[in-house]
Amino acid sequence: MRIIVCENYEELSKKAAKMIASQVMLKPDSVLGLATGSTPEGMYAELAEMNKNGEVDFSDVTTFNLDEYYPISEENDQSYHYFMNKHFFSKVNVKPENVHILSGTAQNPEIECAAYDALIRESGGIDLQILGIGKNGHIGFNEPEANLNAKTHLTALTPSTIKANSRFFESEADVPKHALTMGIRSILLSHKIILLASGAGKHKVVKELLHGGINTAVPATMLKVHRDVTLICDKAAYSGMKIGVDIGGTDIKFGVLNDQGELVYKDKIPTEKSSAMALVNSVAESCLKIADKLPISAIGVGTPGLITNDKVSATNLPFKNFPLASELEKLIGIPVSVCNDATCAALGENIAGSGKGAKNLILITLGTGIGGGIIINGAVYEGNGNAGEIGHMCVCHGGKPCSCGRKGCWEQYASVSALMDMAKKAATASPDSLLGRLYTEKSTMSGEVFFEAYEQKCPKASAVFDEYITWLAEGINTLISIFAPDMIVISGGISAVGTVLTKPLSDKVSAQIPIKTSILQNDAGIIGAASL
Ligand code: PGA
Repeated sequence: MRIIVCENYEELSKKAAKMIASQVMLKPDSVLGLATGSTPEGMYAELAEMNKNGEVDFSDVTTFNLDEYYPISEENDQSYHYFMNKHFFSKVNVKPENVHILSGTAQNPEIECAAYDALIRESGGIDLQILGIGKNGHIGFNEPEANLNAKTHLTALTPSTIKANSRFFESEADVPKHALTMGIRSILLSHKIILLASGAGKHKVVKELLHGGINTAVPATMLKVHRDVTLICDKAAYSGMKIGVDIGGTDIKFGVLNDQGELVYKDKIPTEKSSAMALVNSVAESCLKIADKLPISAIGVGTPGLITNDKVSATNLPFKNFPLASELEKLIGIPVSVCNDATCAALGENIAGSGKGAKNLILITLGTGIGGGIIINGAVYEGNGNAGEIGHMCVCHGGKPCSCGRKGCWEQYASVSALMDMAKKAATASPDSLLGRLYTEKSTMSGEVFFEAYEQKCPKASAVFDEYITWLAEGINTLISIFAPDMIVISGGISAVGTVLTKPLSDKVSAQIPIKTSILQNDAGIIGAASL
């Protein structure tokens, strides 16, 4: 099977139309097998345009349609006679006497079907057959069954097809329960076949078609025995959707990205910390629920901690050398990639946030500690899995002790916790300053308290912030010396203050590199994880 993956539905329609036009140019008296459904509508519109412009001539072409509801009159606007006239025959120069569609009012369906097969044979067989594919794998109205009928026949529609097609009718009850359809053999006798699949809703069946065996439960897989089948699908049908999971110390966020990179679903659950397996079970359960509703093809997970040879160790999660990706894959049955959470956030910002378009980008997350994500030449840089631990670069030899066992790490001076410590000390030393008074009043130091004092121009708060910014710039200058990024993005709760942070910071950073705050905030991690 040849596979053509198009960027979108428009490209799919153009490609299919061009293939039909080429067939007709090479053999003007071609016999075309035509299909209905929403997928080929764009292709028919393209062909009508080409015919109008004189690029393709259908005057010697003969057509046979795949199927028709039964019973249904030709005038019924849901009949396939009506569809074909509306979308194609009324717009092109196919001769009416060369058009064949099974009759939905035939007195004797058996005779109608046998005559149809005979007519196809007499016309020399179908040169090029166009097919759509149902979500249940049907082609024409050949529904999943233990034995597939080879010849054109009367068939009962499955409840899933009735449901899928009810979107064209006033109600599900109005959908005919039967149809006449070319059989699998009539289809396989065609010289060439083009199968069209569009939209994420078709991803599951496309995956079954491409990766599964030949199985009457998915009738389209019968096409695998044919020697000239081309599947033309769009990215959505081919790739499906991706789940991004962002594991945090307090909650686990889930998001689903469609093929256009849009977040189409979001959810979160509290982080289950009793054991690694309990955490993994809770993630798997949520992913399975999402995959039940949406066509998911892959899952990306961002987690804090160190990842060595795919094993995760994180201090505030129950992971110690834990094979997170493989355990999740076992439970969910969908491929899983795992990456550091700050790296995921950097990727998310690079794809859809403040860092969009930057070739080389460093994301700095300021919080209890400092994390980092590095993008080099548009791709995440993970090193041996642990790159980006920028909070642990030394900015002060022999300085403050760090939780990592070393001294003078950047996060001891430039994390939000460090800022709060400095603010607390200043407030305690100067209880009469605005910072000191607010601290006593609220009996706690927080970002809110600090920035209120800072914005009201409290000299003590200003001095603390100036020192903090100096430390922050110290580390950023080192990062710039090593990586020469195009952009720095700062995330974490403190980035909400925007230019209050980035303006004085840019003034202290030696190179003229844009420093921006995250616009995606919590979504950066899930978008990045889903894009892994
Ligand atoms: P659709 O139908 O193009 O409307 O998705 C295809 C089919 O059921 O064959």
